[in-house]
Amino acid sequence: MTPTRVLVLNSGSSSLKYQLLDMRDSSRLAVGLVERIGEQTSRLRHTPLASGETREQSGPIADHETALKAVAEELARDGLGLDSPELAAIGHRVVHGGMFFTEPTVIDDSVLTEIERLIPVAPLHNPANLTGIRTARALRPDLPQVAVFDTAFHTSMPESAARYAIDPRIADRYRIRRYGFHGTSHAYVSRETARLLGRAPEEVNVIVLHLGNGASASAVERGRCVDTSMGLTPLEGLVMGTRSGDLDPAVIFHFARVGDMSMDEIDTLLNKRSGLFGLCGDNDMREIRRRVDEGDEAAALAFDIYIHRIKKYIGAYYAVLGQVDAVAFTAGVGENAAAVRAAAVAGLEGLGLAVDEELNAVRSDDARLISPASARVAVAVVPTDEELEIATQTYALVGKKS
Ligand code: AMP
Repeated sequence: MTPTRVLVLNSGSSSLKYQLLDMRDSSRLAVGLVERIGEQTSRLRHTPLASGETREQSGPIADHETALKAVAEELARDGLGLDSPELAAIGHRVVHGGMFFTEPTVIDDSVLTEIERLIPVAPLHNPANLTGIRTARALRPDLPQVAVFDTAFHTSMPESAARYAIDPRIADRYRIRRYGFHGTSHAYVSRETARLLGRAPEEVNVIVLHLGNGASASAVERGRCVDTSMGLTPLEGLVMGTRSGDLDPAVIFHFARVGDMSMDEIDTLLNKRSGLFGLCGDNDMREIRRRVDEGDEAAALAFDIYIHRIKKYIGAYYAVLGQVDAVAFTAGVGENAAAVRAAAVAGLEGLGLAVDEELNAVRSDDARLISPASARVAVAVVPTDEELEIATQTYALVGKKS
């Protein structure tokens, strides 16, 4: 029997998300999440798609190893255990692959060492990803495991977009450059947008707006990323749920010198207490829209700043690409918030961009066009599917060999 299943693992610092897919038809067999690992109030939610009935466990789960063992037990209860001969591989989301990893990579000891070497540029994410990989390898040492990097899609950026305007020798010593993130999503969505237009990815230029709690834009030229809004870390670029996005770096000196704040305090302020949350106290776009509709001024200003930044990036990437076939909205906000899509494109008719009000109001899980038929540039809503993309890339690498 040829194994056709892929388990996708996404390990965060205190969470473990997973999906088991069957790559014969890309269907989901099970999905789940372990939250608050290391606390007394950990919780595991597991849904086998055959029954659709979610099972929940709560109580302390000490670490990722215990969490993955609990997940393995849940999967085994549905006849989908990690020891199944049908399991072809485990695909791991790894946030930072630096310049080294330009493609999904079968994990061996040297790959682990390199991911470890990248911890200084991804101090929150890579250690958690490594823990997930080590735990999975201990459980199934014989099974191929693949790392799929958030940064890989962006390694095609030209130096003019990837470098900051600082001394390259200093930049190289500290590995400072614009890496970009959400690459798995940008890769998937740009390809799906081409498919929606009935064209090959190599034939179209797409601006992808990944608007979730984290948010980033990318300029994709004929299937290759040529610019993206996140940089050395996921702090740069668009206004996000709790991250400021772009600001004058001198703001940081000012906080330190005039505000007498420590680097850790500034880090927390800009990453966790800024963005929409910092501006108005809410980071959920549903709540912000509700407040705007009620006439709340702080929420309205937060919304305007958020939209203004998106517009600037659409304009910038239009110029970078020269010619644009489509603008695609994706992730929690991009897929669901019609008001954000309408506002982001409003006034851009001169660039050939417009949204059809009725099409924009339709709620659907399918990729769809929301621009009028006459528009020069297509505007699309394309639900992202990072797990499917990780599974597809993993299976492409190991499926044929198994
Ligand atoms: P993500 O990080 O892609 O899961 O996106 C999460 C964000 O999507 C939430 O914080 C909300 O701001 C936003 N979101 C989710 N559902 C909706 C909705 N129906 N309308 C507006 N925003 C939404």
